[in-house]
Amino acid sequence: MFKVPPAIAAERLTICRACKHFKEATQSCGTLILGNKMSPEDLAEAEANNAITHYRKKLRLCGCHMPYKTKLSLWRCPINKWGRYKLNEEETEALAAFISGLPTQGVYTAQMVKEAAAWFTKMTGQRYGCSTCKAGVIFQFLKDSIGEANFDLG
Ligand code: SF4
Repeated sequence: MFKVPPAIAAERLTICRACKHFKEATQSCGTLILGNKMSPEDLAEAEANNAITHYRKKLRLCGCHMPYKTKLSLWRCPINKWGRYKLNEEETEALAAFISGLPTQGVYTAQMVKEAAAWFTKMTGQRYGCSTCKAGVIFQFLKDSIGEANFDLG
């Protein structure tokens, strides 16, 4: 399965670690589920623990080991705190062109900040409340990601 760039995996894991459903002891989303390594009774108990109601919707926490799951492109958070990794190779090239076209000195224009925030949301499924305040963080994230994505996709 396609793996996301390390900067994206790290961003996802940071979100998980701040989430009330994250279990520190097992590093899992809800109660850890180990598939066929569990007895039917333990599996049923874990599944019951992981059944939650989120904004009035009945959902199921995945029970996955998050340091592993956050690296996989097609996975997403069951309560949409982070999304699937959506960049294909063409989009990755477009992002690389955007990053390489940025000025190395001086300030970013409002249009550049807007475009960077859109890329960030596309890649992580998250929005920053104020993209201007967070511009430095967003640009650094994109630069780190594209460097690693180029390496990974090469
Ligand atoms: S995947 Fe989502 S629900 Fe599960 S620990 Fe991470 S942020 Fe929380």
